[in-house]
Amino acid sequence: MVPTWIGEGVAKAPLRDLLEGAASSPKGIKCRTCSLLSDLSGDDLAALSEALSDPKISAPMIAKALDGYGVRVSPSAISRHRRECKPLE
Ligand SMILES: [Zn+2]
Repeated sequence: MVPTWIGEGVAKAPLRDLLEGAASSPKGIKCRTCSLLSDLSGDDLAALSEALSDPKISAPMIAKALDGYGVRVSPSAISRHRRECKPLE
């Protein structure tokens, strides 16, 4: 039941469905950096993976390089990826 203070017709889908959908996102993709990693291949993928696991390369440096590459990922998204995401297999 949708609480009356939200109002009838506001909730667009059952919350259970939304939560289950979020938990089972395809291939465990959690963030923009992860989805970028899953889209890259070859040497680009290797280079980005190496940079992400290299503590000497800061998140803003990676963001700037990606910007030059043509992909906009914020430094905070890269930092969060480093903290919270498990490496893809
Ligand atoms: Zn991630």
